[in-house]
Amino acid sequence: MAELEGLEFGKSDFVLLDEVTMEQFMENLKLRFEKARIYTFIGEVVVSVNPYRHLDIYGKEVIEDYRGRELYENPPHLYAVADAAYKAMKRRAKDTCIVISGESGAGKTEASKYIMQYIAAITNPSQRAEVESVKNVLLKSNCVLEAFGNAKTNRNDNSSRFGKYMDINFNFNGDPTGGHINNYLLEKVRPSVLYHVLRIFTISKYTVFLSFSLFSLSLCHSKSSSQASNNDSLCHKAVMAALKVIGFTTEEISSIYKILSTILHLGNLQFTSDGEHVVLVGEDTVKHISELTSTEPENTRKALLYRTVATGGGEVIEKGHSEQEASYGRDAFAKALYERLFAWIVGRINSVIQVMDYNPALHGKNTVIGVLDIYGFEIFDNNSFEQFCINYCNEKLQQLFIELILRQEQDEYQREGITWQNIEYFNNQIIVDLVEQPHKGIISVLDEACLTAGKVTDTVCLDSMNKKLGQHPHYTSRKLCPADKTMDFNRDFRIRHYAGDVTYSVEGFLDKNKDPLFQDFKRLMYNSSDPVLKEMWPDGKMSITEVTKRPLTAATLFKNSIIALVDKLACKEPYYVRCIKPNEVKSPLLFDDGRCQHQVAYLGLLENVHVRRAGFAYRQPYARFLQRYKMTCEYTWPNHLMSSDQEAVEAIVNQHGFEDDVAYGHTKLFVRTPRTLFTLEQERAAL
Ligand code: ATP
Ligand code: MG
Repeated sequence: MAELEGLEFGKSDFVLLDEVTMEQFMENLKLRFEKARIYTFIGEVVVSVNPYRHLDIYGKEVIEDYRGRELYENPPHLYAVADAAYKAMKRRAKDTCIVISGESGAGKTEASKYIMQYIAAITNPSQRAEVESVKNVLLKSNCVLEAFGNAKTNRNDNSSRFGKYMDINFNFNGDPTGGHINNYLLEKVRPSVLYHVLRIFTISKYTVFLSFSLFSLSLCHSKSSSQASNNDSLCHKAVMAALKVIGFTTEEISSIYKILSTILHLGNLQFTSDGEHVVLVGEDTVKHISELTSTEPENTRKALLYRTVATGGGEVIEKGHSEQEASYGRDAFAKALYERLFAWIVGRINSVIQVMDYNPALHGKNTVIGVLDIYGFEIFDNNSFEQFCINYCNEKLQQLFIELILRQEQDEYQREGITWQNIEYFNNQIIVDLVEQPHKGIISVLDEACLTAGKVTDTVCLDSMNKKLGQHPHYTSRKLCPADKTMDFNRDFRIRHYAGDVTYSVEGFLDKNKDPLFQDFKRLMYNSSDPVLKEMWPDGKMSITEVTKRPLTAATLFKNSIIALVDKLACKEPYYVRCIKPNEVKSPLLFDDGRCQHQVAYLGLLENVHVRRAGFAYRQPYARFLQRYKMTCEYTWPNHLMSSDQEAVEAIVNQHGFEDDVAYGHTKLFVRTPRTLFTLEQERAAL
């Protein structure tokens, strides 16, 4: 393999380590990080370490270096994988995907943006206006989604609080024609997401909508949004420009502001009791909310204080909330407004970039590159429903990785009769089952508890999980393991994830899993005379008597979306970027050995190197190989006279002296290093 960097920078591919041990792996990773070589290959996988400083390695000249070149011609880089995925798509008409994984702050979103920028830079050489406009929207969508879905957390100043999968569609020329974005599990409970959005948006001519709300914001949050920083102002300008480029109308943008403002006003709204009834404190706020949402004040008041219920006899009555229910309803409403706004924005972007009128007969095959930037494994001091979902998602992705990279590889060697030493790896299917198995898994137990009438508490739910899952080797709780004082008796359960043990607090699980929003709010919003708002609440159309089916629970919806995602990825040729966070303090200088080693371990990178080293980079059926390279050998050109294609292929291999680099399977030739194929390609081109 080409060694394009000097040895002082360590090995550019972990496959080249003298010995595949954790020690050598870490030594190489650290050395490269310290020398600002943040990317390293494992075959076609790129391992990336967040540099926490600007590196001058993404410019136009660098893009030119990687454009159209083979993976091993240049030092490891995101651009190399982006180009490999692009070439597979263009030359072989393969749908590909680039899966970017790693924990919060490891650099996934930055990587996904560099990859998109690269693809944008190398496509549409003739600068066709319609393609340029598609590219522009695709790039600008990042800015908008970040404004609405990112927040500062203690692990990352610009943390994505949603998972994102973006398909980019290409025509037969290899130019982008459109795309589609899927978002996953927006973390709506985190108020900081909202503060972030509001900080960006309060500086504008729309401030009038927000003027009443700033008060509550400064109360709840130390950094008042009225003191928005320069940075926020720049960000606001960029977001506004992006919204316009994408094609949001002035009315739509105004509706977005009104919704954000409504959310703030809801935060101001208090309830009290007059002894008999629950009453609103501050009728003014209700007035503002109705103005902003284009609804009747009386209806808004009612939705906040009452809920409509159908009695057993089919009668419809209005039931007054308790103070607690009213507050609960208000909060659920505010969160739902935000969640639906975000989903609507994604949908709106999709409507602009969707590929229309694509006729494969006319335009050739429509191919796709998918880019997945999704939250990595999370272990906090306090892990709740969100971490449970996120970690389940990571189990599914790990399963896909095992499926695609490790198992398929080994299975194929066995099928083809290639001598092969099995690599031991942990198959996490058992943990996936623990979570998602119908009737037995955690999600199913949770759903059951949510469907049970009457007061089922989180603790009761924990008990039934203990009963059903107590025997599972990856599940435990304090009740099952009384000696373990690190867990709370009535609250905690622990899952032994592939990436480590995580203790979850069951508190709030049931609430977060149910659709907590009273139907009355949905109807209120559906009846708004603001068309944008109305569009976000189609389910408000149903009258109370029609609402019979329970909506799917949050966990089941999430499970379904992740299963659909994995199906989508599984039929594509995968490329991986594995991101590592070097330290907890965002320092460009510190390589925290313990933290890094932990990530290397749970990302399964050592196993990856083992498989790669034992394995073969390329394989081709004999006939196809022959078809492509027969002109490079006198015995096979124009046709061979040997008794089988395999023999003819052997003749080509021997003539070039590649005997040591290949193995012969039952139907395919296996090539260990890409350089062999590359040489053949060059010879072919030179003829
Ligand atoms: P989360 O899961 O929280 O969304 P993430 O993996 O998406 O985290 P990023 O937001 O991509 O993390 O990166 C965190 C920060 O690290 C960035 O804001 C940036 O400051 C820095 N960073 C990441 N990658 C790079 C890079 N290639 N060059 C310079 N800085 C980087
Ligand atoms: Mg991110």
